[in-house]
Amino acid sequence: MSHPSLAEPVRRRARLSAAAKRRAGSGGEPILAARNLVKSYRKGAIEVPVLKGVDLDVGRGEFLSIVGQSGSGKSTLLHLLGTLDAPDAGEIRFEDRRIDNLPSRARDAVRNQHVGMIFQFYHLLPELTTLENVLAPRMIADGVLRYWRRRREHVADAKEVLELVGLSHRLEHKPRELSGGEMQRAAIARSLVARPTLLLADEPTGNLDQKIGREILALLQSLNESRNLTIVMVTHDQALARETDRIVRLAEGRVEQNAECGMRNAE
Ligand code: ADP
Ligand code: MG
Repeated sequence: MSHPSLAEPVRRRARLSAAAKRRAGSGGEPILAARNLVKSYRKGAIEVPVLKGVDLDVGRGEFLSIVGQSGSGKSTLLHLLGTLDAPDAGEIRFEDRRIDNLPSRARDAVRNQHVGMIFQFYHLLPELTTLENVLAPRMIADGVLRYWRRRREHVADAKEVLELVGLSHRLEHKPRELSGGEMQRAAIARSLVARPTLLLADEPTGNLDQKIGREILALLQSLNESRNLTIVMVTHDQALARETDRIVRLAEGRVEQNAECGMRNAE
């Protein structure tokens, strides 16, 4: 009698994926490990503590969600993990290499080569087409001369990731000619073009309606599985968080371990 809910395909895939990851022995070294991260912002003479000792391990191939109230420091934590900002104290290791205290060029290199990032408001460049937006990180990484020499290869790579996210029919569209879901797909393609091993997603469905949000989650899940892409996703949406392998909650400047269970723990 009962019809499978819209959520079913996503849920089933998440379950399979969690089981597959366990079989693969995901208990190995974490790909990303944060220890005792402390971060404050200064507002004039006042120091506002945001992170007060965050510990977090992310397993290779894991799809982790971070939840927590607005202002609890989720974006701050993601920025630190992605080397966009440095902690005041503590340590971050990526692939067993310390990344929080690298000189800025080396930090940029880690980020450009290994880490993809997507955001709630996509951050696409409005004057560029979808294809050009996806090519932009390559242009920046290569510099103009080298980029032009390898342009054919870059374009082929960009088209490949755009196909992967289902946007082959929107290559020449500007962001304003795309729907919200399409803009996020374009941003995901852009984040993938350097073939990162880690994707950091800050409220990637926060500006999308529920149906499109689920589609974006399904896309992230398929990338997590097909490319063994490790994903850390900040989200407000408990229902989406529950579809991931594990949920951690940020509160009072710390991570509450095992505060809630994602699919991996629910089995
Ligand atoms: P969340 O993403 O969980 O909503 P954020 O990490 O964006 O939280 O922010 C955590 C706290 O830090 C908030 O109180 C916010 O106002 C403050 N904050 C964030 N970024 C800055 C900044 N660049 N300068 C000063 N305060 C900031
Ligand atoms: Mg935020």
